[in-house]
Amino acid sequence: MIALTKYAPPVQVTRLKCEICGASYPHGNLYTCSSCGDEGILDVEYDYERIASALSKSPLQDRDQNIWRYNELLPVSADIARPRLFVGWTPIYDAPRLAKYFGIKQILLKDDGRNPTNSFKDRASSVGVLKAIEFGFGEIACASTGNAASSLAGLSAATGLKSYIFVPERAPEPKVTQLLIFGATVLRVLGTYEQAFELCKAACEKYGWYNRNSGVNPFLVEGKKTAGLEIAEQLNGNLPDWVVVSVGDGCTISGIGKGLQEMKRLGFIDRVPRLLGVQAEGARPIVDAFMSGKDLAPSETKTLADSIAVGTPRNWRRAIKQIRLSSGEMIAVSDDEILEAMRTTARIGAVFGEPAGVTGVAGLKKAIESGVINRNESVLCVITGNGLKDIQSAKQAAGQALDVNPSLADLATALSNHVN
Ligand SMILES: *Cc1c(COP(=O)(O)O)cnc(C)c1O
Repeated sequence: MIALTKYAPPVQVTRLKCEICGASYPHGNLYTCSSCGDEGILDVEYDYERIASALSKSPLQDRDQNIWRYNELLPVSADIARPRLFVGWTPIYDAPRLAKYFGIKQILLKDDGRNPTNSFKDRASSVGVLKAIEFGFGEIACASTGNAASSLAGLSAATGLKSYIFVPERAPEPKVTQLLIFGATVLRVLGTYEQAFELCKAACEKYGWYNRNSGVNPFLVEGKKTAGLEIAEQLNGNLPDWVVVSVGDGCTISGIGKGLQEMKRLGFIDRVPRLLGVQAEGARPIVDAFMSGKDLAPSETKTLADSIAVGTPRNWRRAIKQIRLSSGEMIAVSDDEILEAMRTTARIGAVFGEPAGVTGVAGLKKAIESGVINRNESVLCVITGNGLKDIQSAKQAAGQALDVNPSLADLATALSNHVN
């Protein structure tokens, strides 16, 4: 256990508000709404006047290039040391060859695989570990299909917390290895992600661990929001028409939407791009709820994009809310389309993403072909995880090396037989 100190609460947070019934709670160590139960995810609300005045005294451009440049917009006590790892401020690349290949005006790729543990989840975990410390916990746990886990393990190593991680059986080996090397206690649950999630929740209650699960913890989406804040700031007003994001639980896209809305509210941008949320055909409950206007019906999951294989998403309401607020759309893509996007994004866009990392690119292609996105529009795709996270899928997408004897004649035969 690390020493328990009392920290001042974050002054910029005004309250936590239930997404369903609107009940409001003062800031504190809370998970979901007490009257709505698990479904009642709490949204963190801020004092934007205070934030605007702080930002006018210490302008953003003078600050460190990581997510803590947005301190006033994050729900963490100012007294707590930030982790040393550089999370966020990931590069946005213009990809003109990819745009030409897809036949669209402009494609930007924001490479979130460049975060310390190589996925977007580092944004959420860095807020999660600080909230654990703020509330006096020495231990933190999560259930994850992989990336939330590896990022929690890495950020725990950076802050001295002990981490317990519940992974479903099918989590890819590189992700599990990442957890182990960072010193997490890894519990491989012989079951689905949903079962791992429930076991983790029960264990947190039993053992008094802090629960870093974006399905119940109100603060994590605030970390994810930093990608939206960055998109607004890094592009300096030259916003794309669309921002494309892969969707599993729905926390990532709702965070990005919230961040963009806040930057509009604070006057950094004058409009919010339309959000395109992309799910895999084999795990598309949020797309179905979006299309039908009905409540979410949990589904089976069958896709190689493990990071978005979520059959019972918890953040579906706010995902749909943010997509509608932006006049956005949703679309689903097949595993073959995802594998093709892995190849295209790497070969033509020069960014290597894992399957869920490039699902947005697969969705973009389909949205252009089906006329949802116009050819004279511009798009930013968030590449949410690095390709080395899932070697097996990458190999499936990439093909084989050519075997040659060390002779020029043999080389010539190999090259002439090769079709790329
Ligand atoms: C978690 C994750 C997503 C989706 O985020 P949700 O909040 O589950 O919608 C997308 N891509 C990668 C690589 C992820 O790890």
